[in-house]
Amino acid sequence: MVERYKPIRFSSAGVRGLSASATIAINDKVREMWAAGRNVYHLAFGESRWPVHPKIAEALRSNVHKRSYTHALGIPELRRAIAEYYGRRFGIEATPEQVAVGPGSKSLIFAALMALGEEVIVPQPSWVSYGPQAHLLGKPITFVPTRPEENYELELDVLETKIQESRQNWGNPEVFIVNSPKNPTGTMMYPEKAEALAGFARENELMVMSDEIYAFTAFTKIPHISIARFYPEGTVVFGGLSKSLPLGGWRFGTAILPHNTGGNALAKAIENIASNIWTCVTAPVQYAALLAYSGDPDVEEYIGLCTRMHAIRTRFLFQTMVRLGVPCVEPAGAFYVYPSFEKWKDPLAARGVHNDEQLALYLIEKYEVATLPGSAFHGAHDFCLRLSSSYIDAATDDRADALLAAYRADSDPEKFIQNHHPRLQKVAERLGEFVQDLESESAEPERGPRAAAV
Ligand code: PLP
Repeated sequence: MVERYKPIRFSSAGVRGLSASATIAINDKVREMWAAGRNVYHLAFGESRWPVHPKIAEALRSNVHKRSYTHALGIPELRRAIAEYYGRRFGIEATPEQVAVGPGSKSLIFAALMALGEEVIVPQPSWVSYGPQAHLLGKPITFVPTRPEENYELELDVLETKIQESRQNWGNPEVFIVNSPKNPTGTMMYPEKAEALAGFARENELMVMSDEIYAFTAFTKIPHISIARFYPEGTVVFGGLSKSLPLGGWRFGTAILPHNTGGNALAKAIENIASNIWTCVTAPVQYAALLAYSGDPDVEEYIGLCTRMHAIRTRFLFQTMVRLGVPCVEPAGAFYVYPSFEKWKDPLAARGVHNDEQLALYLIEKYEVATLPGSAFHGAHDFCLRLSSSYIDAATDDRADALLAAYRADSDPEKFIQNHHPRLQKVAERLGEFVQDLESESAEPERGPRAAAV
């Protein structure tokens, strides 16, 4: 046998079977096209691009001298501010001792998964990292499919069946991940469902990990409601500054743990994990985060404004789908839509496209539109794609600044799109051409010359 990596030997724990698969394939393709000077309409990126609020930028600058390690779960005044903020905003009663901060909610979700229970219940579709994180920890997963007809909400009978199936197979599902507003569908869990799921979790003694990173980006009339309102003793709520404020690269996440002896033990467990892996969140970022959670009226106004801009752009994508007859559930938060192209399965097959990964590659190659395939999101829905509105027309800091200024000057949604979103409008055109191609008889359709890159 050939020694491929001598002297490096890999551990099979976690690493084997782990792949970044479809998202990498698309990102590689985007980079390759950029390197070749080609145009790409980038809808594959889920990052809020708005400018850093000047007060928060100043808070970071003025705390740059804070250089010491802090408590692994965060500085006490910040944990207090976050507890109070969640109480005010979402009616979640929390003490500072129940709050943990970490380098992004991703790390805290991983730490909680590491600390909690055995088998993990994961909805389908759902965020890309739940599965790989469970895999890295060697935890089995019970996937629970959701349906567009049900707004991608979990159905209790399906949940029950999947859990029973796992138990009959010696499984032990104990940790239950929910996410609302949801990546990749942009849909939201409504209060009745949150209450029903809470009852189910209580009855089945499941520990709920409620990923609410998009809580402040909800844009429907019905406000976001946390499942912790109905099941506080068994829910951990995750949040952070990556989505409502555009601070993904600052790496700041929060977890609110149950207020009981189990919650105290979990805080200790996460503290042990944090102190042995990342030690603490970058100190100046914690001091800047104090302002973000202080309820400062300017910052609050800015969170609302960022959300409204995301909402206009996301709704435009949704309306484009509706206009083109592409089945798509209406988004209620975040910056995603999740259309299905399944009804064109046959014309797609005639073009050599047999699944969602091939569809995403086809769309980028032929129409310059980069999306992510549903299978990257543990998706069971063939031919679904996730389209993100967050990056397009805001790719550079200058463009993002200009969009913010334009929206402040005139917040009319139609004018905001028409006057300031040339590339988003091009996306609608390209998708229109694509659907028209699929509807036509020809398997290799003729296309006109490509529009110049904007
Ligand atoms: N949860 C969901 C559903 C997400 O979409 C993301 C980021 O894309 C995260 C968690 C992680 O966010 P962060 O680690 O930046 O807090």
